[in-house]
Amino acid sequence: MGDGAHRSGGRGRPRRGVPVAWAVVPRDQLRPVIGVLALQGDVREHLEVLRDQGAQAVRVRRPEELAAVDGLVLPGGESTTMAKLADRFGLLEPLRAAVRGGLPAYGSCAGMILLADRLLDAPPGQPTIGGLDVTVRRNAFGRQVDSFESEIALDGVAGGPLHAVFIRAPWVEEAGADVEVLGRVVGGPADGRIVAVRQGSLVATSFHPELTGDRRVHALFVDIVRRTLAQRAGASAGNEEDNA
Ligand code: GLN
Repeated sequence: MGDGAHRSGGRGRPRRGVPVAWAVVPRDQLRPVIGVLALQGDVREHLEVLRDQGAQAVRVRRPEELAAVDGLVLPGGESTTMAKLADRFGLLEPLRAAVRGGLPAYGSCAGMILLADRLLDAPPGQPTIGGLDVTVRRNAFGRQVDSFESEIALDGVAGGPLHAVFIRAPWVEEAGADVEVLGRVVGGPADGRIVAVRQGSLVATSFHPELTGDRRVHALFVDIVRRTLAQRAGASAGNEEDNA
């Protein structure tokens, strides 16, 4: 019955390709909805860690799904493939618009590449979502060191250094003035290289905290999402008072 009404009216459903602005829907600050871009890569691992942190974690493959989240994780995987699929699914522009509009996002490894404004050692024309004022070098640690593990201390993350897993990882070659460097490699041939950054509500790491059981980076991100929701709720309450 309700279904028939839905079909004839068709209202209340976002039309395909016309996402509602993510800022207009009321949200639950304690259990924010956090999407994981689910085109390729280690999606399931991120979903599990996010749920563990109290978020409602959902897969995002379509613009309507993107419009319904309070924050977005861009997983590790293969950035060239993810960028291609995002383009094919009509997600690239909505992703850019969402990040530009203030949607908090966290990128691990390939996700860091997707959030970068500029790339080195990428195939010509590899598109990114952008938003982070950084130059990121793909596969920066070299072919011999496809993967390695290291202890990385992160600014703003208490409890000692994280055990970080790097898999054909990028690093941040240059960071703009508004970018906070959260962590660097210590020792070895990559000594001093930037592997964790934050700019406002955007966070990126070269490594994969979703693979190690250390939930502190996700906890930091979920906290950023909660604070962003709280600020927006405060701002809209303020507007209502202004209008009263
Ligand atoms: N090398 C991959 C890329 O360029 C990233 C690797 C990863 O996410 N583990 O997209």
